[in-house]
Amino acid sequence: MKVIRIPAKITKLLASARHKGKRIGFVPTMGALHQGHLSLITRARQENDLVAVSIFVNPAQFGPREDLNKYPRPLKNDLLLCRKHKVDLVFLPDNKSMYPASFSTFVNVEKLSDLLCGLARPGHFRGVATVVAKLLNIIRPDALYLGQKDAQQAVIIKKMVCDLNFPVKVKVSPIVRQEDGLALSSRNAYLNAAEKDAALVLFKALSLAKSLIGHGQRDAARIISKMKELIGRKKQAHIDYAAIVDLESLQGMKKINRDCLICLAVKIGKTRLIDNLVVKYGEK
Ligand code: AMP
Repeated sequence: MKVIRIPAKITKLLASARHKGKRIGFVPTMGALHQGHLSLITRARQENDLVAVSIFVNPAQFGPREDLNKYPRPLKNDLLLCRKHKVDLVFLPDNKSMYPASFSTFVNVEKLSDLLCGLARPGHFRGVATVVAKLLNIIRPDALYLGQKDAQQAVIIKKMVCDLNFPVKVKVSPIVRQEDGLALSSRNAYLNAAEKDAALVLFKALSLAKSLIGHGQRDAARIISKMKELIGRKKQAHIDYAAIVDLESLQGMKKINRDCLICLAVKIGKTRLIDNLVVKYGEK
């Protein structure tokens, strides 16, 4: 496994592999790798000749009062995990090589970036789209692997790839959860024991919503109010949003008359967690 820090170096190395007909799969991450990330790496391994993983805590996607500085960076363990999962190349750029002082170009996927998480995190998706665009140009993969955990991010990146004609296939993998339902996240490391317990309410609320839909409830507002009621019972939980939205436009739905995405952002203590569930119309 090669660890490469310089963008031009990894571009050159991968260009020569591509010339030899190798198919390249790419998994962008911010590190603190867990089974969610590893599921993407495993899939990329199965579907490609070469697997590249980036580990970069992207400052452009953090707001001024967010957790950029305290975001976990267990690099040694991340590299061990990458090696164990047969990653070929780890791209480990520093801030300066990604954002030199003269940097001035950003990618903004309009509308989709202003909804849901975009409301509480202005500029977040502009930072995400910009770094993914840069990484796609540096790595030039055949396939890009993303997790459904960040559902809005996946929709936005797919839109960017389509609108800007990036020659890459976007593959979105299901959310990996603990047995108790909690979606794996690098930010779960911030939670104490009581908060971890309270955090289970996210999946419980999503499951409640799914079951209400399965039993014929079609009124989104009613379902959302039941979810909010359940979450409100946990004193550590403060809802940022609970929404039922269209899978592509991410616009709120009033009536459940097709497949939908139920999504949540909830602060547990000081930690903001997100989770979601796709519900197929007519599914019990
Ligand atoms: P991050 O390191 O948080 O930027 O995540 C890197 C990639 O891993 C993103 O595409 C995430 O959606 C994906 N990911 C994070 N957590 C999970 C999870 N629990 N299940 C599946 N994919 C995940």
